[in-house]
Amino acid sequence: MPVSSAYRPEPRFFDLGDEYGDAVRAADFPQATLRFRNDRAAGEVGLETLSDAEWIDHLGRFQLLPGQPGPIAMRYHGHQFRSYNPDLGDGRGFLAAQMRDASGRLLDLGTKGSGRTPWSRGADGRLTLKGGVREVLAASMLEAQGVPTSRAFSLIETGEALERGDEPSPTRSAVLVRLSHSHIRFGTFQRAAYFGRRDQIETLVEHIRTLYHPHVPAGDAPALLTAIVEASARLTARWIATGFVHGVLNTDNLNVTGESFDYGPWRFLPFYEPGFTAAYFDQTGLYAFARQPEAVFWNLTQLAGCLKLVADVEPLTEALNGFGAAYIRELRTAFLMRLGVKSLGEAADQRLLDATLALLREGGEALRWEPLFFDWFAGFSSSARALAGPRKALYQGEAIDAFRFALFEHEPDAPERLEHPVFARPEPEEMLIDEVEAIWTAIEASDDWAPFHDKLRRIEEARLAYSVAPAR
Ligand code: AMP
Ligand code: MG
Repeated sequence: MPVSSAYRPEPRFFDLGDEYGDAVRAADFPQATLRFRNDRAAGEVGLETLSDAEWIDHLGRFQLLPGQPGPIAMRYHGHQFRSYNPDLGDGRGFLAAQMRDASGRLLDLGTKGSGRTPWSRGADGRLTLKGGVREVLAASMLEAQGVPTSRAFSLIETGEALERGDEPSPTRSAVLVRLSHSHIRFGTFQRAAYFGRRDQIETLVEHIRTLYHPHVPAGDAPALLTAIVEASARLTARWIATGFVHGVLNTDNLNVTGESFDYGPWRFLPFYEPGFTAAYFDQTGLYAFARQPEAVFWNLTQLAGCLKLVADVEPLTEALNGFGAAYIRELRTAFLMRLGVKSLGEAADQRLLDATLALLREGGEALRWEPLFFDWFAGFSSSARALAGPRKALYQGEAIDAFRFALFEHEPDAPERLEHPVFARPEPEEMLIDEVEAIWTAIEASDDWAPFHDKLRRIEEARLAYSVAPAR
């Protein structure tokens, strides 16, 4: 069947004019084998009714969806590991479509691995299948844990043999499509500022304000910066609470909506390790786990620098300086969410945050990140379960006493969630590197996709178990 009546195309990137992207065509792939389709996400934008063959036509061969003007490779610059690169832009992707979801949010379908563009810089414009599998896994896990994230929408294997200097080669190819609340990056502003285009900065401010931060008054760049600072602080806090290391926090990888995207060398921490660095090419640990707030803040200062073309320095500085307080506030909220308890006011919430971090710090390798939150979810309501479970031996001593004291002050939030069968299991869903590699090995060695789909099914169960909202 074609698109459903819920499909509401609205290609608004074109409002910006023709200086923000370039019309491109997808590569002509030798093969298109559907490996993953996100029907839940598709249902939100009216595309779940596509047959598999239609899905492949639109999301693997990129026949235009109704009401969409055609693929556009976005232009942007960015700081990569703090050095400025004016040669970026969508080098292996494009904006394929924009549409409203059921709640009225404007969403993009954006590709990764769809072929070369004017911004490919001599590279092949392709994505490895392994890279695609890894992005699907990361996005699913982050969504399940309440992190504002782009969703992996589609993964199609494309039948090419890719050469990669840092992976066993040749390796299989794929095209990924993600569903994201905008693909406008801090680097989009940097490109406009680099060319001294005050008019473009004004256009971007207005575009982003109306479409993504509608409470910001017209022409108020500092207020827009405040909105982006707050959204970025929330995102960073949620990464931390879930033990996530993005890996490559360059300015071209940060979205103005505060939704995270572009998952390359990501990792989830098995246990608290502040210096853990995900990307092997990040030799100085610039984007290490505990340095992510600093990295996001630095990127925000670059965005603020661009906005100087259209606003005074003082209110921009004030907006930037809101990051620290917003981050701490969001971190308290993120930990409350992960522990499934209600806020009890700033002081008590801070005590709980401090006690949890102290416990994680002290627990070392034995105290795994995800099991701690799983065992103590909904606080007091889980006490008996935690103290009788497989990790009961870990739950002794001063740090745990302080943690329990701080936790039990807080009222459980929707403790009926504990009735979900997920909580009757001894182990939570983790997303650690050994399992990710094992999922890939099954695909690579014997084209066995069962472990991949089983994992996604279990993550979906966890998402439903943890979610406060009734299951959709
Ligand atoms: P990333 O580190 O994935 O955010 O990519 C940084 C820049 O390199 C972006 O402009 C990408 O489009 C580009 N890029 C990465 N891999 C490729 C590739 N295989 N072919 C073309 N461009 C690429
Ligand atoms: Mg990127």
